[in-house]
Amino acid sequence: MTSKPDIRDLSLDELTRHMASLGEKSYRAAQIFAWIYQKGAWSFDAMKNLPVELRDRLKNNFNLSPNTIAQRIISGDKTTKFLLDLFDHEKVECVLIPTATRTTACISTQAGCKFGCKFCASGIGGWTRNLTCAEILAQVLQVKEEALKHKRPLSNIVFMGTGEPLDNFDNLFKAIRTINSQKGSGIGARHITISTVGLVPRINQLARQNLQIELAISLHGYDNESRNLLMPVNRKYPFDELIKACREYFKATKRQITFEYILIKDVTCAEKAVLSLKKAFKGIICKMNLIPYNPVSEFEHKTPSGKEMTDFRDRLEECGIHATIRTPRGRDVAAACGQLRIMHSEKKRS
Ligand code: SF4
Repeated sequence: MTSKPDIRDLSLDELTRHMASLGEKSYRAAQIFAWIYQKGAWSFDAMKNLPVELRDRLKNNFNLSPNTIAQRIISGDKTTKFLLDLFDHEKVECVLIPTATRTTACISTQAGCKFGCKFCASGIGGWTRNLTCAEILAQVLQVKEEALKHKRPLSNIVFMGTGEPLDNFDNLFKAIRTINSQKGSGIGARHITISTVGLVPRINQLARQNLQIELAISLHGYDNESRNLLMPVNRKYPFDELIKACREYFKATKRQITFEYILIKDVTCAEKAVLSLKKAFKGIICKMNLIPYNPVSEFEHKTPSGKEMTDFRDRLEECGIHATIRTPRGRDVAAACGQLRIMHSEKKRS
């Protein structure tokens, strides 16, 4: 563990002010940013265009190490999953997902999760803490490094790993501004997706950020009752209130919303769901990602058959809701959210 502050917790403005306080030229901050976020440097010694005295000073005052990788597994479909061991031995996951058209990093924002959705391994052990901006950015840099090894430049970031991103709003947005900055990682806002369980006040706050990021809502239910079954957060922010916030978000940003919807046999994959969703989405430009349930041993749900899932999708399309069934990635590497972390703690217990 290092007790030094992490340089990735500083925005470019903050680093520029820090350089000024050291009597350095302001362009040094941009040079350091380029080394970290564009050239993938993990040490100050690598920053060859900085004077040696400045490098030494940075080395003595800041941390720039990667997160420790406890486990790294590559699935047959080339999905690469990392289990990270943070400085306090909290474990989180991040994933590299290469597809034909994009190379995506799935990033965690919290150690554990408060929201306890009844299909997700991440919520099982509860919440421990928010990740720092630096811990979030280090994941992006580590996945980017892995992607480059496979000659696949990182194109997209999704905040869909362990935790609820909007519950760690300030650190998340500080990290996003560095990821999005041309002087940072330079990933366009439209290539960054935040997935939320539906924290209504935070969705309203998101609408005011003036960033063209993609919003994905983990809906996983078609009315109050069905959502209550799977998502305890629905008792605080009920289905209708969430849909109202989505409608207002769409009005303010004119951006399409993605609704993530898990397909569980006899629970969410049902005809009455189609009619309820058709009514709810009126006036919102949206698409649905239908996610076949990825079995987690702690829950008893079942995945519907292929035909049940395609019938469900076709019915949504008939109702004017664009829907696609997401191809499961990395099943052989426990790619469902939090599975690797849970497996690791079970192994430790036994
Ligand atoms: S789905 Fe997301 S919000 Fe729900 S328990 Fe899992 S990590 Fe938490």
